[in-house]
Amino acid sequence: MKSNQLNFSGGPGALPETVLLQARQAMEALPETGVSVLGMSHRSEWFRSLLVEAESNLRSLLGISDEFAITFLQGGSSLQFAMIPMNFATAGFSAPEYVSSGYWSSRATAEAARVSASKIAWDGASVEYKQLPALHELDIAPSAAYLHYVSNETVEGLQFPICQSPMSVPIVADMSSDFLSKPFDVNRYSFIYAHAQKNLGPSGVTVALVKRSLLDRIPNGLPAILDFRTHISHGSNYNTPPVFAIYVLTLVTRWLRDEIGGLQAMQKINEEKSRRLYETLDALDDVVKIHADRPWRSQMNVAFTFGDPRLDEEFVAVAREQGIIGLEGHRSIGGLRASLYNAVTEQAVETLTSALAEFCHERV
Ligand code: PMP
Repeated sequence: MKSNQLNFSGGPGALPETVLLQARQAMEALPETGVSVLGMSHRSEWFRSLLVEAESNLRSLLGISDEFAITFLQGGSSLQFAMIPMNFATAGFSAPEYVSSGYWSSRATAEAARVSASKIAWDGASVEYKQLPALHELDIAPSAAYLHYVSNETVEGLQFPICQSPMSVPIVADMSSDFLSKPFDVNRYSFIYAHAQKNLGPSGVTVALVKRSLLDRIPNGLPAILDFRTHISHGSNYNTPPVFAIYVLTLVTRWLRDEIGGLQAMQKINEEKSRRLYETLDALDDVVKIHADRPWRSQMNVAFTFGDPRLDEEFVAVAREQGIIGLEGHRSIGGLRASLYNAVTEQAVETLTSALAEFCHERV
């Protein structure tokens, strides 16, 4: 297998082979226009219809109703950490509450505190970010502007279960690392955001689903580019959008629909991949330690370590010899991390599990 297929990186990471092939052809000339995708105007008819298709594909994959606006933004998920409190932590509500369950939610929490008063609803520091709370058991002020959480902690490999009970305050979720990995009920949320570079495409575009009723809260006077209403009213074409990233994202939605067969089928594949990897790691538990406690293990990111940085590095090197890449853990916790995003195949996971078993057998 080629390294593109054996890319276990935390993101940007693996993309489907057929998507890469189409993207390569589109660099040369788009089948629809004969012009390179990199030279296509964002004001062209082609791009306008691409935006319509991207939105419509997302709506049908997830069953998103018209109660939600969908918009494509830049600035990554980090910009959302700031934009969300700027737009929604507004007069008439008490401080938004944040679940601080790992590296990225802590970043979101810290950024919100720079923008407005905010409250930490739960802090995973005392459990070394190995566990997650049950959201509906948290004591949230009914007047809170919203509750923010990160559905999948990319660094620590922790994932909230789907289908949380409905809550009395608006739920805002950073789904950057598990969006489109499985079906879920969008209606339980008021705002969902996900940057593309995990399951959706290359970096450069961030998808936001905004419940329209929330738009009434946005204060007037924000810089236009930081006001969600600007992007929604301009159909995600207020200033020059990342045309290429949105093109690849659209190809990925077609791939999910036509080649995978939808999100239920994607979920099955993802469950099987993570089951195989955890099973292998559990069988090696005298030498390998998984970061997350069992109930909160992520299907997308598996963070683990041999407990010795030299062994971790050695495995990265041995795996690389076999074409396996992207296994280095995040700089904040070290160790190893295998990310099993949508485009990572079951066959790739088999290659990784064999490499792990062999490495432990021979060297540990
Ligand atoms: N949230 C999550 C869950 C992430 O995994 C990341 C980055 N990997 C971010 C936010 C930050 O995203 P960006 O680099 O697009 O700002």
